[in-house]
Amino acid sequence: MYKIAVAGTGYVGLVAGVCFAEVGHQVTCVDIDESKVELMKSGVSPIYEENLEELMRKNYAVGRINYTTDYQVAYKDADAIFIGVGTPEQPDGSANLSYIATVARQIAESVEKDCLVVVKSTVPVGTNDKVEQFIQDFLVHDVRVEVASNPEFLAQGSAVHDTLHAERIVIGTESKWAEEVLMGIYEPFHLPIVSVNRRSAEMIKYASNDFLALKISYMNDIANLCELVGADIQDVARGMSFDARIGSKFLNAGIGFGGSCFPKDTKALEYIAKQQGYELKTVKAAIDVNKEQKTMLYKKASKRLITFSGLKVAVLGLTFKPGTDDLREAASLENVPLLLEQGADIYAYDPVGANNFAKVHPEGKHGRGSITYVSNVEQALEGANVCFIFTEWGEVKAITPEAYEKLMMTPLVYDGRNIYSVQEMEEAGVEYHSIGRKQSN
Ligand code: NAD
Repeated sequence: MYKIAVAGTGYVGLVAGVCFAEVGHQVTCVDIDESKVELMKSGVSPIYEENLEELMRKNYAVGRINYTTDYQVAYKDADAIFIGVGTPEQPDGSANLSYIATVARQIAESVEKDCLVVVKSTVPVGTNDKVEQFIQDFLVHDVRVEVASNPEFLAQGSAVHDTLHAERIVIGTESKWAEEVLMGIYEPFHLPIVSVNRRSAEMIKYASNDFLALKISYMNDIANLCELVGADIQDVARGMSFDARIGSKFLNAGIGFGGSCFPKDTKALEYIAKQQGYELKTVKAAIDVNKEQKTMLYKKASKRLITFSGLKVAVLGLTFKPGTDDLREAASLENVPLLLEQGADIYAYDPVGANNFAKVHPEGKHGRGSITYVSNVEQALEGANVCFIFTEWGEVKAITPEAYEKLMMTPLVYDGRNIYSVQEMEEAGVEYHSIGRKQSN
């Protein structure tokens, strides 16, 4: 059993902390946000992830996990400190490492015994060399501190499951000691461990995310071509998926990738390459295709409708994918402002993301348009002139093609997630536009 501190209680830090406690380690989660810490102490998770609250409560009750803003107490005698703070995108595409630097400084001030610092956050290749040097330069006590890389591969929406049943754990270390500590911490998980050097571990994270982003953008690019040549992207994807070299995952065409990782990690790797004087053409292509894809349906609808002014527009789904309350880089964030600018009266539904969205676009009038948040899909569709589907929530998928015909004033649907069969929608009398498939005339 190890004494572990975790810096940052977002999707990565909190889930890691809870899972470490679940396998028997003694965990203290640190966050600078007092309101989050108070929430967590009361057994409430500040983020939505399946099973997370149950495990938080269970492990808190037996004293295996605690939450604090007092980093000094948490770090001073930890065997390992995991860093899971954000590394958001800066305007030039590079990663903002200021949160990592602050934690490094706090660690240097606080540690009073030998300790392994483990960076889970996604950081540019070579960052952890600098973090180690930085901590050693500012160390207050005479102790051994090393830095290891342990990139995180969880997907939001299934974060707890992905952590407890990860396909692999990647650890990047520069000494036998660091490798042994990390192997020991992960031993109770009984998962395959890939042990490499620090820079390779850092690169594995970017290379993996950007490969997936590229796969999505490739399918979106092919989908756009399918529409032009009369092929169906879902049939094409199914035909491709049987080839083991391609695999069946990440073949769904749609309205582009969002979330906190793919958009920023593609830009960050492109930036890293540029700094080395190298042009990463493949990743740049993924970024470009994705940018276009996000407003693809809006552009189609604009052509078809001429104006959105005075139209009731149903928006189904606001988060970047189902199963999360996260809106970062969601397609809705690009499309809703465009619709409002054009004078649309939006009726938006999302089972968990509406409150977060309302912080950016409060309910009420916005220039010529307006936005109203409703509590079910039917309310959004009632009397609508057009509907956009941005997130494939179960609640949205449960709506039958007939319901669109029955509830909407004019049954015109733009589906960014290819939820329905084109034939079924047309048979129900719905004018249906989706991605990479036959479009209604
Ligand atoms: P997040 O923004 O959800 O959470 C970061 C947390 O760190 C916040 O709660 C913030 O208050 C806290 N924080 C900031 N400074 C702090 C400090 N000095 N001490 C303690 N806490 C502090 O971030 P996230 O989505 O969990 O992502 C974290 C990192 O993990 C990023 O580098 C991201 O790229 C990477 N990552 C994220 C995912 C994902 O699905 N979200 C998956 C894999 C990797």
